[in-house]
Order: sequence, then C-alpha cells, then structure tokens
Amino acid sequence: MIEVPISGNSNWRNALKNHELPLSVKNDPLLLECLEAITSGGYVDVEKGVKLFESPNISGISALANLIKKSRFGNYVYFNDNLHVNTTNICVLACRFCAFRKGPRHNDAYALSVDEYLHRIEPFSQIIDEVHSVGGLHPDWTVSYYEELYKAAKKTYPNIHIKSLTAVEVKHIASRSGISVKETLSRLKLAGLDSLPGGGAEILVDSVRDRICRGKESSDEYLKIHEIAHGLGIKTNCTMLFGTVETVRERAIHLSRLRHQQDLSNGFQCFVPYPFLPDKTRLPEAQLASMNEIIRVIAISRIMLDNIPHIKAYRMNIGSHVASIALNSGADDIDGTVNHEEIMHEAGSSARLDSDSDELARLIEDIDSVPVKRNTTYSDFTQYKRKPDGGGQSLPVAQLA
Ligand code: SF4
Repeated sequence: MIEVPISGNSNWRNALKNHELPLSVKNDPLLLECLEAITSGGYVDVEKGVKLFESPNISGISALANLIKKSRFGNYVYFNDNLHVNTTNICVLACRFCAFRKGPRHNDAYALSVDEYLHRIEPFSQIIDEVHSVGGLHPDWTVSYYEELYKAAKKTYPNIHIKSLTAVEVKHIASRSGISVKETLSRLKLAGLDSLPGGGAEILVDSVRDRICRGKESSDEYLKIHEIAHGLGIKTNCTMLFGTVETVRERAIHLSRLRHQQDLSNGFQCFVPYPFLPDKTRLPEAQLASMNEIIRVIAISRIMLDNIPHIKAYRMNIGSHVASIALNSGADDIDGTVNHEEIMHEAGSSARLDSDSDELARLIEDIDSVPVKRNTTYSDFTQYKRKPDGGGQSLPVAQLA
C-alpha cells in the first residue's frame, strides 16, 4: 500500500504507475490509452472522453477512476461541517431545470434580511466552520446588500468560512450595481466572501444553455468570472448539471473546458457533478441519468480532470447510497453535514438533512475508507475518530501518530 499524506499525494502520477491493474482495466485498450496519457503527464482529451461515455466497460472505468483516487488520496475520504443558508428564492430568471426559484409575488417567495440570515446560522454556529449561501437573482439587491451581509456574518461568526454566490449571481450583482465583475468580487472579498461554490455551470456549451437556462451567463462568462475570482485569490469549485438535454460529447466538452480553465487560472479546488432531478412539470424531454450513468460521470470526471484535485459525490443530490458507490469510483469527498438544503430538495431529493459528522464518518468507514474532516479550502485536516457509543471527535493529525 502506498503511503499518502492526509492532504493528498503530489506525486500521484508516479504512484498510479505502480498500482497493479485489475483485469477490467488491463484488458481494455481505451483505458490503457487513458492511463498512459495520465501517467506520462498528459490528459484525456474530448475524443477519448466521448469514447469513455460510450464504452460498455463501466466496471473498468470505475476501477481506473478508483486507482487515480487512491493514488492521489489513498484511503482518505473528506467531508466538512457546514450549513446551507439560501439568501432568497426570488429570481428574475426561470431556468427550466430549476424548482427553487419563485416570482416575487409567490406565496413562498422569501428574501432574508441580514438579521434573519444571522439567525439561521446561530443554532449551528458552534458546530460548523462553513456556511454555503447561494440564491436567486433578486431584482433589487445590489453589491451593498451582500457587503452588509458578509460583514455582519464575519463580525458575528469570525471563524465561519463564507462560501457564497454562483457566477450568475456575481454577474447579476455587478450589473445591478453598475460596476465590473472584478470590482464586485474585490468588494465582496473585502467584506468577507471567502470562496465561490461553483454552482450554475450546468453544461458549458451555449446551445445546451439556450435550451435549459436561457438568459443565464454564457459558458465563456462562467469561466471568465471564475478566472477573475482566481486572480483575486478567491478559490472556487466548479460543477456540472447532467441528464437534461446534453449529448455525451457535450459532457466531454464541458469537462475539457474546465480542465483548460484550470490550466489557465488554477483556482478550482473541487468538481461537483450532479444529475438533474426530475419532476413532472419541468424539462419533459430530459434524458434522466440512471445510477450507472451517475457513477460513470463521476468516474470519467476523475479520469479527465487530472488538474482539479477533488471530485465530490454530492450526497444532497445523489443520496448516501449512490454517494458511497461513487467513493469507490473516483470521488474522494462527500460534502458536508449541510443541515438545511432547499435547492435539491425542492427538486425532489430525499437525501437526509440530519446526518451529523458521526454518520458521515460511518458511511465512509463502511467502504473501508478513513474519514477526514477538512476545512473549505482543503488546507486543514483532522482524522475523524468515531467513539463506540456514537459520539466522535476530530483528532489533529499529529495526535494520530
Ligand atoms: S437556477 Fe438560479 S438563476 Fe436559474 S432560475 Fe434558478 S435561481 Fe434563478
């Protein structure tokens, strides 16, 4: 077994070379080509990506992704203690896949005041170190609202990392405020914004965006806004919504565009792929992803995104059962405790919201892996030790030796 630091192995391509290959990889010329591309310092391009999406060898694809994951992170699987607080569900757009947005006059429309936002955090403030906040494009809010919000949150909860705003929210705030994206992000960083969660990438092909989220930022704009954030020292994640109307080629192009952007600006920490969750009213033409397809997308993401460190199995969307399979198919992160979630649950997710650290750790241990609690920026790690009575604690790495 290769010794891997708890924070990950920078020499993972070499480690990958030394892994014994299972037959499902060894006997597949396409997977051997991918392996050769990665271990020689290259990457898996769009054409190979399309072939991976079309390959019947799903077990080989999962096995290769798992070898890459093991080479990078050994048996560690990461999670954090976080809380989701959405600022508003009022939105000037109406993306076809979105079950969350409401018009301003809808009975269930809301827009949190700064005090209401702080009150949402308060009951969790001693157990979380991250608040994840996204929302709709409110017709009236400018940069001043968000400055006030982040300043108040930092003053009240100085140890909580603020991961907030999708790229389209940043674009909307900039436009409503009459300032550039760069000035918007600079001011918000000064006010306390720590990182961007990466939502809203959908599929980075404009013809797909025209069909599912017309009016949203273009694919170039999504990447540019993240590039500007990276340039300002703001780390971001990136995402993919699949299983709507895209082709497998468009999925491969999406992954390749993120990979290329990472080469340019190097600020993506984690890639979060999630399938469209259907209901009866939206996107009737969607080609819904089966469980096999979800696992395939996660595994191919791990194979193609050699320069993005982490791949997340987003439990809030895919549920704990599929997430635990994904952790053996390339994913190394299971997101956080979350505690409250609207966007995926409005769309039909039944993922549990009351899972604490101990339950996440159990899910990770059940697949023979080691639970590691991380901070948002993957710069601080503690191995999580469950107690037999159900309680648990995080131990600093040094104490584990
Ligand atoms: S996905 Fe975002 S931008 Fe689109 S309608 Fe929903 S809240 Fe608005």
